[in-house]
Amino acid sequence: MTDLTQLGEFGFIGKVDRLLTAKSASVHKGIGDDCAVYEERGGKRYVASTDALIETVHFKLTTTTPEQLGMKCISVNVSDVAAMGAVPQSALISLGIPKTISYAFLKRFYRGINRACSAYGIQLAGGDTVSSPKHLFINITIFGEGKARRIFYRSGARPGDAILTTGFLGDSALGLKILSSPRRAWKLSKADRRYLTERHLNPRARSLEAQKLANSSLRVTSMIDISDGLIQDLKHLDAASGTGSIIDSAQLPLSPAFKRVCAANKLNLWELALSGGEDYELLFTLNPLDVKKITKLFDKTHSGAVPIGEITALPGKLLLKDLEGRPQSVKNLMGYQHF
Ligand code: ADP
Ligand code: MG
Repeated sequence: MTDLTQLGEFGFIGKVDRLLTAKSASVHKGIGDDCAVYEERGGKRYVASTDALIETVHFKLTTTTPEQLGMKCISVNVSDVAAMGAVPQSALISLGIPKTISYAFLKRFYRGINRACSAYGIQLAGGDTVSSPKHLFINITIFGEGKARRIFYRSGARPGDAILTTGFLGDSALGLKILSSPRRAWKLSKADRRYLTERHLNPRARSLEAQKLANSSLRVTSMIDISDGLIQDLKHLDAASGTGSIIDSAQLPLSPAFKRVCAANKLNLWELALSGGEDYELLFTLNPLDVKKITKLFDKTHSGAVPIGEITALPGKLLLKDLEGRPQSVKNLMGYQHF
C-alpha cells in the first residue's frame, strides 16, 4: 500500500490515464472530468459516471437509515452529471452484500433509491448482485445527456471569470463531525442537529440548477461539483483550465445553523467550509458580465448561487482573502479563527 499512499488518489488516476492508450472515437472526453462525455449525435452529447460507496469508508450503518443511504448513492452520482450541465436519465447498480445484511434492510434501501430516482427523473435500469466477505459495497453508474454546446467541462475557466458556488458550504462536514462524535457534549438545538446531519446523510444534487444554467444563455465557462471540498475541487478546476484562483472568505455562503454551531462549539469554520467535502454543491465559473443575471435565473425553488472569487492567470496558485481582505495562503486561513 505504501507506494499507493505516496501516489495518492489523484496521482494514481494520473498514472492510470497515461497507461490507458487504447482509444475509441466515440469518447469525446475520457478520464479527467466529472463524467465521461461521448461523441456528438444530433446536437447532443451523452455522459456517464460511476461512484462507489463502501461501508466503514463512506458510511456507517449505525448513523444512516437504509432509505438515506439509498438516496445518497443516487444523489452523489446525479451530482457528477449535474456538474457537466447534463440531465440524468438512468443508472445501473452493483451490490456486494455481506451476510449481515437482511432483505428488510435492502427493501428500505431500494425505497430510498426509488425516492431519489423519482425526484431526479431517472430510472434504475439494472445492475449486479454478488456477495461480499465483510462490508456492504455499492457502486452506481449513471447516464445522462446534454446539449452538445452546453456541456460544461472543468477546463474552460479563463482569467477574470467570476467563481460561483450554489447552496451552503461546510454543512455536510459539520454534520459528519456531529455524527462521528456522539459522546461529545454538543451545544446545538435539535433543529440544527437535524439540518446538519441531514445535509451529510441525504445531500441533494443540484440537478435543477445545472439544467437551468445549461438552458440559459449565461456564459458559463467551466463547472465541477464539490465532493472533495472547495479547495481540492477548485484545484482540479484550475489544473484542468491552466489557471489560478483567488477566493474571498467573506463571500463564502455559510448556513445560519453552520455558523451558530461552529461558534457555540469553538470549531474552526474555515477548515470545515474550505476542505470538509461532500457538499455536492456546484462550483462554476462565469463571464463577470453575467454574474448579476444569476439571481434572476434561480428562483425560490433553487438553492441560489453566489460569487466567491475570481479566476487568475497564475497557474495552480490558490489564494484566499481573509475577512480583512488580505490575501493569505490556504494554510494560514485554515488556522484563522474568527467566529
Ligand atoms: P469525482 O470526484 O467527480 O467523482 P474522481 O476524482 O473520482 O471524480 O475522478 C476523476 C477522474 O478520474 C474521472 O474522470 C474518473 O472517471 C477518473 N477515474 C477515477 N478513478 C479511476 C480509475 N480507477 N480508473 C480510471 N479512471 C478513473
Ligand atoms: Mg465530481
